[in-house]
Amino acid sequence: MTEFTQQLQQSMLPHIRGLDVYQGVEPVEAMAQRAGIPPEKIIRLNGNENPYGPSPAVAQALAAFPNFNHYPDPEQRRLRQALSGYVNVDPERIIAGNGSDELIDMLFRMFIGPGDNIINLTPTFGMYSLGAEICGGQAVSVPRDANFEIDLESVKLAITPRTKAIVICSPNNPTGNMPSEAEVRTLLDTGLLVVVDEAYYEFCGQTVMPLLDEYPNLVVLRTFSKWAGLAGLRIGLGAMHPDLAQTMMSVKPPYNVNLAAEVALIASLENMPALLERVNAIVVERERMAGLLSAIPAVKPYPSRANFILCQLPENSGQRVFDGLCNRGIFLRHWSNPRLKDCIRVSVGLPEESDVVAAALTELTEAANG
Ligand SMILES: *Cc1c(COP(=O)(O)O)cnc(C)c1O
Repeated sequence: MTEFTQQLQQSMLPHIRGLDVYQGVEPVEAMAQRAGIPPEKIIRLNGNENPYGPSPAVAQALAAFPNFNHYPDPEQRRLRQALSGYVNVDPERIIAGNGSDELIDMLFRMFIGPGDNIINLTPTFGMYSLGAEICGGQAVSVPRDANFEIDLESVKLAITPRTKAIVICSPNNPTGNMPSEAEVRTLLDTGLLVVVDEAYYEFCGQTVMPLLDEYPNLVVLRTFSKWAGLAGLRIGLGAMHPDLAQTMMSVKPPYNVNLAAEVALIASLENMPALLERVNAIVVERERMAGLLSAIPAVKPYPSRANFILCQLPENSGQRVFDGLCNRGIFLRHWSNPRLKDCIRVSVGLPEESDVVAAALTELTEAANG
């Protein structure tokens, strides 16, 4: 480090200096290079992406759109109207984000400062703790039980005067299960801001969106990354009390959602039946893949309501199995933290991909056992 950058480092906020990098999904080319396998042979099931891609209507709409030289509408009029129709919530309650990740970021910046905390129901999606830490706050981890259910009593005990929010991922990434409405209500009754991240709603059909009328402290997040195949274009939505939405509109960068994402979203919503057919195909394949995985003696898949399945592997085999899969060009999600180190998450892809994954897991866990 030069003297100059050392000085910069010292003037940087301490909580920013110490941040861990969020491990996102690598591009296929990088994966291919690492495995020494041509990119077209890579099986990429680590990002819960849609294997069928966006609706064909999206490419047509993008090609035909004449005004990419214009800025997007800072008030998101057309977007909020379209999203309102999709989730059946008034437009004043809705805000569109550059992916739902951006909405998490904006929301936390509205509520969390140095010394504040959120309650994080671990294991769960990594962006919540990172988002809190970027604001100088902390994520207080309340571990889920053996079946990854929320421990409501421990949540209540973990709340401090500096607790600003409880975040619930439903269905939960990476475990695949979801809380009951009664459990969500119990947490809403604490009066704290409760963020329910429904990134995988379309794969389970169960939502707390109707509770918005009852609870001003509820925020529901959705995304078009997973079910609608728009991960690369970045569009999500938040639904909340109109007063909160109004404040959030002034926090948001004026042109946060780009016009390509807006055009793609509207084309997707105008062609719902075809997209929902794909969602259904993914749900059918999830159940078939669960069957394949549970037939492997050393693999225990957890039940899933989303488009991925978390699997328990034999003790101390997680890293070895993960590396073995990578060497074969099969990329799944693996974590180093103690609770998940012997688990692996498989996104639901094409049926032929599930077959290859199941065969590889059979071989690798036999090797791990023997
Ligand atoms: C994928 C995912 C997101 C991110 O969605 P984007 O809209 O692509 O930012 C948010 N929450 C959870 C739980 C996810 O798994």
